[in-house]
Amino acid sequence: MPRPILATVHPDALRHNLQRARDAAPDAKVWAVVKANAYGHGIERCFDALRAADGFALLDLAEAERLRALDWRGPIHLLEGVFEPRDLELCSRLHLWHTVHCTEQIDWLAAHKTQVPHRVFLKLNSGMNRLGFKSAAFRSAWARLNALPQVEEISLITHFSDADGARGIAHQVAAFEEATADLQGERSLCNSAALLRFAGQALGGSQNLAADWVREGIALYGGAPDHPEKRAADWGLQPAMTLSSRIIGLQSLQAGDTVGYGSTFTADAEMRVGVVACGYADGYPRHAPTGTPVMVEGMRTRLIGRVSMDMLMVDLTDLPACGMGSEVVLWGRSSSGAVLPIDEVAYAAGTISYELMCAVAARVPFSA
Ligand SMILES: *Cc1c(COP(=O)(O)O)cnc(C)c1O
Repeated sequence: MPRPILATVHPDALRHNLQRARDAAPDAKVWAVVKANAYGHGIERCFDALRAADGFALLDLAEAERLRALDWRGPIHLLEGVFEPRDLELCSRLHLWHTVHCTEQIDWLAAHKTQVPHRVFLKLNSGMNRLGFKSAAFRSAWARLNALPQVEEISLITHFSDADGARGIAHQVAAFEEATADLQGERSLCNSAALLRFAGQALGGSQNLAADWVREGIALYGGAPDHPEKRAADWGLQPAMTLSSRIIGLQSLQAGDTVGYGSTFTADAEMRVGVVACGYADGYPRHAPTGTPVMVEGMRTRLIGRVSMDMLMVDLTDLPACGMGSEVVLWGRSSSGAVLPIDEVAYAAGTISYELMCAVAARVPFSA
């Protein structure tokens, strides 16, 4: 028998979550963001469930090639644009739309020989200060692109730094409206958090914030972008990934006994401990502390002691029916249907669901 750890992708949940985006922004087109191998789920495993999206957004050219190899003929958007001039040849050949966020990318386009004019998304740095042209440079970048025979259509894009948090997006929306006021072209502003929280808000003219294209990542996979303020279930989202394993060993403790490396956990009474075939070499966060939720046979319990490379320990004291071979869900859905939200595990470990999904290790087999 192989080691019992397993990651399972739930296509029904992906479909459901995509529909939630449609409900939140009925007039917008939806990019399914599938960067980082579909947030660790696997592009090929998700493709069928997500092909109802209007397009796919990612940033790795090899992943764009994989989507075309799946015979996806619709839009693919490179969110960071090209990394060097010759990438433009692939954009021409595979009809990739691409973000333009800096003058170098315009220079490369101007020098690019192509029969196929490109669709580009000119990126405004509306305050995040990661990628994009500042407001003062935005118009001249637009004018330069507009004069290029290599460019067929210019759309307008920006990205929010605080759509999930207290600062919010108003200052960036204002910057976007001002910088783009009289420019033609489709608009794209919202990530998952902005889509769920603000999609209906007004954006100049007759548009709302969802505008022409929303870029949905984490919510597709069932993560709440604003946990712990809202839970995934509050947004009607279902987990698209389950990480499961089994109990492979048991220990009985007396008061004063310790558990695991560093003896970071000490029993204060008799306890029953289960050993789970899952460790940080599987992508489970090593810094998850005692108390991090774990589900055994669909019932919640807690991790105890330090996570080791291949194993972690859980408290089975109050779960007497659980023992060798019991199903353990690290996050996702148990076979009984009970859900342990990945957001809760991430939160306990001081990180976000995105990081856990993306970190599932190559040695973990996937089903579905
Ligand atoms: C990753 C990414 C998204 C998706 O963000 P989520 O929070 O996962 O919805 C949207 N836009 C850009 C530019 C991104 O890089």
